[in-house]
Amino acid sequence: PSITRGITVEIPKVSWEDIGGLKDLKKKLQQVVEWPIKHSAAFSRLGILPVRGVLLHGPPGCSKTTLAKAAANAAQASFFSLSGAELYSMYVGEGEALLRNTFQRARLAAPSIIFFDEADVIAAKRGGSSSSSTTVGERLLSTLLTEMDGLEQAKGILVLAATNRPFAIDSALMRPGRFDLVLYVPPPDLEARHEILRVHTRNMNLGNDVDLRQIAEHTELFTGAELEGLCREAGIVALREDISATVVYQHHFDTVRCALKPALTREEID
Ligand code: ATP
Repeated sequence: PSITRGITVEIPKVSWEDIGGLKDLKKKLQQVVEWPIKHSAAFSRLGILPVRGVLLHGPPGCSKTTLAKAAANAAQASFFSLSGAELYSMYVGEGEALLRNTFQRARLAAPSIIFFDEADVIAAKRGGSSSSSTTVGERLLSTLLTEMDGLEQAKGILVLAATNRPFAIDSALMRPGRFDLVLYVPPPDLEARHEILRVHTRNMNLGNDVDLRQIAEHTELFTGAELEGLCREAGIVALREDISATVVYQHHFDTVRCALKPALTREEID
């Protein structure tokens, strides 16, 4: 981490190559994240306003966080991470203060990406309750809206938000200049699963009999996170069999795969 005016700045180490599948999505993110930062003069020349916010939605464990980190890495942008659930659980006023403080630090460390996980927790639709007292969620949401509107003057700051429940997001966040772009991050298809398995076995010593394509074919509905877990567990099984093992074979993968049941169901993704 480098230090910018007293702020510890982290640029994530994850790159596009660490993410299997999602070719079009990666390309789109390159355009909206990398281009405005790397070619800001071209944007001014043409009079185009860069996107301020991108909402990533899709089932858990399918690389929303990893995509945000890879985008920051590609743009060499500082990465700030906030969790809706954490903000929500803080003492009165602390969540708003942390939100404001994070945007402030991001401005100082620009180019920056603010990643906002579990965004629906604080950006949930405002209820029509007639009660005059504002709820924790409403106060956090209004702070977030104020900060996002303030980004108009700030250069090189982008907010990437993630949610599994896009339908719950308040429409005020979808206005132009806020989350202008909504992208679906789907669970991996066959080709993507094959690539994900390649990524997560890169540093493993695999036996000649290991057929990643076949494993991909037998792991329908598995998320990227579950495939990563499968690779790790296969290594553990090999060690359990023989603590001095040096190679992970196909049957180790098969043992783990047969014992695993994906969390996603077909109905959830159709
Ligand atoms: P959540 O909604 O639970 O926050 P998420 O969609 O943000 O999940 P990540 O945290 O990015 O998912 O992914 C979880 C783990 O799964 C990461 O460690 C990542 O390495 C792995 N993973 C998920 N998708 C992929 C992928 N397409 N390629 C490689 N690894 C992946």
